[in-house]
Amino acid sequence: MDNYLYKLKGKIYLNITNRCGNRCEFCIRSNSDALVGYDMKLSREPDFEDMKKAIDELPDPLGEVTFCGYGEPTYNFDTLVKTAEYLKSRGAKVRLNTNGQGRLINERDIVPELAGKIDEVSVSLNEADRGAYQNLCHPKFGMFAHDEILDFAKSCKEAGISTRFTAVDIIPNVSIRRCRKLAADMGIPLAVRQHISDNEKYK
Ligand code: SF4
Repeated sequence: MDNYLYKLKGKIYLNITNRCGNRCEFCIRSNSDALVGYDMKLSREPDFEDMKKAIDELPDPLGEVTFCGYGEPTYNFDTLVKTAEYLKSRGAKVRLNTNGQGRLINERDIVPELAGKIDEVSVSLNEADRGAYQNLCHPKFGMFAHDEILDFAKSCKEAGISTRFTAVDIIPNVSIRRCRKLAADMGIPLAVRQHISDNEKYK
């Protein structure tokens, strides 16, 4: 049975797609299909009814719920938006972890559809310039991707969504320093997060 929902450190995470246009060198998907005992491989992407059924098995209060699958959540955008709306109606704080390329993926501006449904967006940055990002994350959108990530984060912030960039702690210090400078210049916080190297020992 597919795991559309998983728990880490007492918080709820949603796995709504395995698709992603990046091939990040640090992606935990290249280690294994499993994460802390959950098989994250989906036989099919869930629709809203699948997500509602999974969420309705949880007790209130839901607390914080994060779209953070084994893939880029904006690939399954219809499910994301409807599920986020439902989570808000259940009083949850809704977060989205994204590679920031959802507007290229969906070929339209998705930010107005996220506003009011997503409380907080974490945009994976990891490098401060196009070439370095290309070499680290190999985005299918090529050199367009990095500019788009920055503009997406800016638009989210302007739309009133609490916005932050993230970087993994295994990238070189010089890259982290450059990301910090870029984020500060944009007035967006940067969080350096621990890289997960062991899929079964998430700390
Ligand atoms: S954007 Fe996320 S899911 Fe996609 S390859 Fe990179 S780390 Fe993996």
